[in-house]
Amino acid sequence: MNKVITECIRCGTCCKKGGPSFHLEDKVLIEKGIILSKYLYTIREGELCYDNVKESILPAASDIIKIKGQKDSVTCIFFNEKENECTIYDNRPLECRALKCWDTREIERIYSKNRLTRKDLISTIEGLWDLVEDHQRRCSYETLKFFIDALNKDKKDEALKGIFDIIEYDAQIRELVVQKGDLDPEMTDFIFGRPITETIRMYGFKIIKQNDNYRLIPIS
Ligand code: SF4
Repeated sequence: MNKVITECIRCGTCCKKGGPSFHLEDKVLIEKGIILSKYLYTIREGELCYDNVKESILPAASDIIKIKGQKDSVTCIFFNEKENECTIYDNRPLECRALKCWDTREIERIYSKNRLTRKDLISTIEGLWDLVEDHQRRCSYETLKFFIDALNKDKKDEALKGIFDIIEYDAQIRELVVQKGDLDPEMTDFIFGRPITETIRMYGFKIIKQNDNYRLIPIS
């Protein structure tokens, strides 16, 4: 007979399913440098993402800041596979503390409440926040979705131009902050969200760049 689990046995299963999302209660972990922002990425408002509680793909209602996965896997970057343990266990974020695989009521209660956003963390950084707001305006997922939907209508060329302009601006702003602002390239997924060349997969397309030209390919 299978043993009934009533406490965390540190099996690591939840850590291998992806890192947690951050809540206001976790702000201090980032502010104190316990969790560095280069280990984070942002799912931007409006971006399609998987909602673990509703078990469906939905547009994000606000920024969702998450811990990155390990190379080529969704396993949380702070999980030590060899030792089967969390390397920041005493400082693990709220969701990790709330998640009890034998009783999901607590994680369901807090899951979409008090989500930490980039505004909570970097809106006072002069110059940088203006770039974030400008990027959010020019590269919003709402606009991207508008152009993707327009592909099937009679203005396909305009729709393609709209999509490629967004992709180009998204790429340029990342280059700018790294080259001129001396920003660690690993921080761009937190500051501007993941590149649209990656996230466009959620909308059923992939992007190929050839000789400075983009091609939009439907994913079959
Ligand atoms: S922070 Fe620690 S407990 Fe939370 S998912 Fe990552 S490895 Fe697991």
